[in-house]
Amino acid sequence: MKRQTLMLRRMAVLLIAFVTTLAVILIHRHIMVMKFEQQLIHSMDDVSAQNKSVIEAEVEEMQEILAGIVAEAEEKYPEMNSDDELKEVVAFLKPFAEIYRFKRMGVITLDGVAHCTDGHFEDIQGHEVSLLGNAGIANITGSIQDTIGEKESINVLSMPVHNKNGEVMGILFATARTSDFRKLINVESFEGLGYSYIIQKDGTVVTDSEQSPMYGTTNLFESMLKHSEKNVEVVEEVQKAINDMCTGHVFAEADGKRYLHYAPLDIDDVQQTWYLCTIVTSQILDERMDDVLDLYDKLLILAGLIIMCTVLYYIGTCGKDEKTLRTLAYVDPITQGDNYACFLEKFKSQKEENGFFVSFDINEFKLVNSICGINKGNETLKEVWNVIASHLTERELAAHINGDHYVLFLKAESRTVLIERISKISDDIKKISSKISIISIWPYFGVYESKNQEDPETCYGYANQAKHLVRGKRKTNYAFYESINYDKVVEEKQLVDLFDEAIEKREFEVWYQPKYKSDDETVVGAEALVRWRKEDGTLRQPLSFIPLFEKNGLIANLDEYVFRMVCIQQKKWMEEEKHIFPISVNISRASLYYDDIVQRYQAILEDSGLKPEMVPLEITESATVDNSQIKRLVERFHSVGFPIHLDDFGNGYSALSTLNMMRFDTLKLDKGLVDFIGDSNGEKLLGYTIKLAKSLGMRITAEGVEYKNQVDFLQNLQCDEIQGYYFSKPLPLQEFEQLIK
Ligand code: C2E
Ligand code: MG
Ligand code: MG
Repeated sequence: MKRQTLMLRRMAVLLIAFVTTLAVILIHRHIMVMKFEQQLIHSMDDVSAQNKSVIEAEVEEMQEILAGIVAEAEEKYPEMNSDDELKEVVAFLKPFAEIYRFKRMGVITLDGVAHCTDGHFEDIQGHEVSLLGNAGIANITGSIQDTIGEKESINVLSMPVHNKNGEVMGILFATARTSDFRKLINVESFEGLGYSYIIQKDGTVVTDSEQSPMYGTTNLFESMLKHSEKNVEVVEEVQKAINDMCTGHVFAEADGKRYLHYAPLDIDDVQQTWYLCTIVTSQILDERMDDVLDLYDKLLILAGLIIMCTVLYYIGTCGKDEKTLRTLAYVDPITQGDNYACFLEKFKSQKEENGFFVSFDINEFKLVNSICGINKGNETLKEVWNVIASHLTERELAAHINGDHYVLFLKAESRTVLIERISKISDDIKKISSKISIISIWPYFGVYESKNQEDPETCYGYANQAKHLVRGKRKTNYAFYESINYDKVVEEKQLVDLFDEAIEKREFEVWYQPKYKSDDETVVGAEALVRWRKEDGTLRQPLSFIPLFEKNGLIANLDEYVFRMVCIQQKKWMEEEKHIFPISVNISRASLYYDDIVQRYQAILEDSGLKPEMVPLEITESATVDNSQIKRLVERFHSVGFPIHLDDFGNGYSALSTLNMMRFDTLKLDKGLVDFIGDSNGEKLLGYTIKLAKSLGMRITAEGVEYKNQVDFLQNLQCDEIQGYYFSKPLPLQEFEQLIK
């Protein structure tokens, strides 16, 4: 994943964590506010209940006082109809008025005249006090304006007085100052932020606390509606609740939120029920919650700080970790330069157009390690890297892949320029040998020219393939990709993959090329030559697969298979009592590397009951194989009794000198030598070779003989056997059987 995307993802996770934490704190804060609100409403309930009982008790006490006075007056003044008696009643009331701190008391006669203890007479005929009293109903008025004496708000408590017959003969009244009620509700509550109202059903204020911001208003509902339109519904709700005599609370709007608690007052004799309204501004909540909210805010800041520190720490460590990871992932431990992963990353990010992918190795680098030691080996690799790095120009890349493998991406306007650069790099690499005193080294390069923004890994693969073409070559140590026959590479891979199955299905056929006795031209033997009959019936010639199987060791299996088939065939002919000839079998040089080859061939031979002379073995001499090894093998095969033919003698690899060293039974002259016939120097060489071989006791077989003149020449030189198209091509089994019948 790209680094930026990774970083973004991490930041997103942290952001989510941050937002979630904030949300949790804020939600919790909100829940706390709600809890405080509930708590406030509970305490409003309490405050209201307390005020309610104080008011109810106070009014009830006044009523009881008045009732007591009425009872005593009925006793003392059974008539109450003369002026004198009325005066006496007033005089009787006066001390009570003073004791109980009523503004005044008095008696109202049936004609509606009030005789007051403060000396006033007032005609209140038609007033509710007079009307109700005359009707025998006790009453407490709402707040009314006093028309006599000091102008103030008053509440009048009145009770009818009865004569002995139970008829109303007058009304006793006591005038209480509204301010006295006010005192009851003026008690400070809610840290001075709470205030109360006593109202009647329609909102008319009986009394209100001085703390009220609307102090002096005559109707609470009207004043609420004046404050805000939002209160319309609130007022309706309160009125409905009041009608149902309910207790409850609402939130009202008046310069901010207000909590309004309402409860009916349980007072007899009031014609319109009184309600106690307790109001608190939302400020109280703010004040109460201040400390807690302050704590929350601090918590928020703290959480923010912690998260910020975490983010910074995280980014810091991520940066470090990432640096370490990047070093591990992208830096080559030996050269301290870029590795392949880094090369690819850089290549992809730089969106390079065209250029040359160069893959190179150091020839025989393992010798540096084994002769000069691993440390010197590593030093060499580092020096090679330094050389490469010094040759890179802008937008060029390089990496040490592993071992002695490196890759370069070079830019050059033409192949000629590129080759020049490669040769300079090569020269500088060669100089490392003397610089750090190691055995001489030289690099070999494979190049792939990338033209269409191809995949870098594929391009490197092509460069690699090209490199194998020049492995070990010192003169031209570079090759371009297109000079490789890729169809062949693919086909070879298929052949290798099919080998086991082909053996199993017996797709390998043995063909026989007869060998003729030189003097009388009769068949004296044959050479077994393998062919591959593919499933589709087509036939593959040995040269198209043998070199391949020699490269990967499969040839040993194939040689043994052919040897076994020949033995089986010879045995079959023997059992059929046919005349058998020696059939020579080829053993590849690569097969000779297997230690137990002699025992294995011997076991197969013994299984068939054949004599070893019936299956001579053809071995090719080679410059690349250690001849002393072949000599030992030849001796071991000889000890079993196998005749050994030296195959392809004169094809360029073999040397006359080696004839001396090893004891071969037969020398097979290669077609290349036979083709010299007609050329006098060539014929001389052929003559000497035959002579020498004969003098060493070898028999001679000439191969690849195609023409009559060649046969004649060879007969003259007393060559023993002749094998070639002149007499016969290699034949499939049935045809060969026909031939020797
Ligand atoms: P070789 O062992 O030298 O076999 C002789 C090759 O020369 C055969 O080719 C044969 O067909 C060819 N030849 C014979 N007379 C003439 C002629 O007059 N003119 C021409 N132009 N060619 C002639 P072939 O069968 O294609 O085999 C090629 C090589 O493959 C063999 O050379 C041998 O080295 C190898 N080979 C064949 N079968 C086997 C096997 O079973 N095991 C191993 N290791 N190698 C085998
Ligand atoms: Mg041969
Ligand atoms: Mg040969």
